Amino acid sequence: MSEGQTIFEKILRGEAPADVVYQDEHVLAFRDVRPQAPVHVLVVPRRKARSLADLTDWDDPEAGRFIRGVAAAAAALGLDGPGYRVVMNCGRAGQQSVDYLHAHILGGRQLRWPPG
Ligand code: AMP
Repeated sequence: MSEGQTIFEKILRGEAPADVVYQDEHVLAFRDVRPQAPVHVLVVPRRKARSLADLTDWDDPEAGRFIRGVAAAAAALGLDGPGYRVVMNCGRAGQQSVDYLHAHILGGRQLRWPPG
């Protein structure tokens, strides 16, 4: 479990390496180091939140821009045609391991349901 300064904050500041695939004013998207699908990208907001449960001081347009950033990253990866999955692990039971809000984009193969 990451405490204090997370790896995603270091990536956002350019202090840790990342394979960046998309970025805009609001989000940064980079490949997961332990991919669970042929395409596995993480999208993080530039504004810090610890998780989906930590958006109480975000207004709806800010939250919307994050979601639009996720969709824009997926489109930039060419996934909007075939389709893809977005996962946001939240808290310990959700297996969140990095305490900085992020969305997983998974694609590049036929995904199954339900997930584990
Ligand atoms: P979660 O378990 O939802 O918190 O997801 C965190 C994800 O971050 C995991 O899939 C890790 O493989 C990934 N990860 C951890 N460190 C890095 C890193 N330096 N660069 C890219 N992905 C990372």
